[in-house]
Amino acid sequence: MGLLAEVEAARTRNDSITLLREGRRPLTVQTKDLLSGITTRHVEIMRGTLAALLHERTRDDVDYRFGTVIEAVDGITAALSDGTTIEADLIVGADGLHSGVRRMVFGPEREYRHFLGAYLAVYTLPDVLGTGPTVAAFTAPGVAATVYPTLTPGVSRALFLVRTPTEVPREPAAIRALIGDRLGRQAEPVLDHFGTAGDLYFDDISQIRMNSWSTDRVTLVGDAGYGPGPAVGGGTSLAAAGAYVLAGELERDRAGALRRYESRLAGPVRHSRDIGPSVLNAIVPRDRAQVWVTAQATRLIPHLPGAVRRRLTSFGGGPAAMLDGLTV
Ligand SMILES: Cc1cc2nc3c(=O)[nH]c(=O)nc-3n(C[C@H](O)[C@H](O)[C@H](O)COP(=O)(O)OP(=O)(O)OC[C@H]3O[C@@H](n4cnc5c(N)ncnc54)[C@H](O)[C@@H]3O)c2cc1C
Repeated sequence: MGLLAEVEAARTRNDSITLLREGRRPLTVQTKDLLSGITTRHVEIMRGTLAALLHERTRDDVDYRFGTVIEAVDGITAALSDGTTIEADLIVGADGLHSGVRRMVFGPEREYRHFLGAYLAVYTLPDVLGTGPTVAAFTAPGVAATVYPTLTPGVSRALFLVRTPTEVPREPAAIRALIGDRLGRQAEPVLDHFGTAGDLYFDDISQIRMNSWSTDRVTLVGDAGYGPGPAVGGGTSLAAAGAYVLAGELERDRAGALRRYESRLAGPVRHSRDIGPSVLNAIVPRDRAQVWVTAQATRLIPHLPGAVRRRLTSFGGGPAAMLDGLTV
């Protein structure tokens, strides 16, 4: 797509992570060491920055209608919330995890949603920890939290992953209480902003599993059709690769394009379903023993020989290598 240089230039500078431990010495690890078992080509970029780059490149050729959603699909006619209708050759629902196009064409979300046993919460807050450009992390049984810098100095963002054995009421206050109980005093300055943040994003961590995500004239791309789970990795890469493969197949030959798109993506999509469970197992400790092991691993990682380090950080056999099976 010719975007790599710009993506790399716009990457975040989150080059190290510091694990904060109540009453103990903080431990710092380089991100590249932590990811060495997955890839040496990892690039981290803010979602909004990536969206802006993609928009910039396509704005002259694409009729973007911000703030407008598809409200009804009838065959190849889409009714939009701005009151207009569009007759399309093909409708592509790229409208995310809670896709409206999927619901309208393939049925309710509950038929395709698989809960992975955790919730996520993200919000913006001032740099209350005073960690500046460093990424801070906390862990406790059932919780992993990171507080990372945004592109605006003095403004941070907190991300919590919370494991629960069963689904709990989807209420932010209940999850906040759960986190507070588990993390204790060390996270209080961060949690103080939980209820007051204007941009709290809260969701369960679920995958979308569909055997097929196309009809004759409608298909899905990205999280809408095969979201591997938010905040546990892989979703953006798979969405971008999926869109690229679909575009290529449409250009090659409209006839059979959707069938080829699905069959070329089937392997990576299957593979992607292992990522969430494996990442949650690795980064959200189940109990105190795993909290201790995580701290010891963080301490040891910089000192290990490359091969051992790669093995330790491969997240159980390298599910993040899902795109290796895809030739573009
Ligand atoms: C907190 C968090 C952290 C994450 N971290 C990572 C990570 O580190 N790495 C990674 O790879 N992935 C990560 N993900 C997942 C990643 O964000 C998604 O996999 C990726 O954004 C999927 O892209 P998409 O284009 O399919 O959907 P989305 O990015 O969700 O885009 C869907 C778009 O459709 C719009 N829309 C919704 N309904 C309609 C409608 N009816 N009509 C028109 N438009 C509509 C939405 O406004 C949105 O702009 C994370 C997700 C979350 C929530």
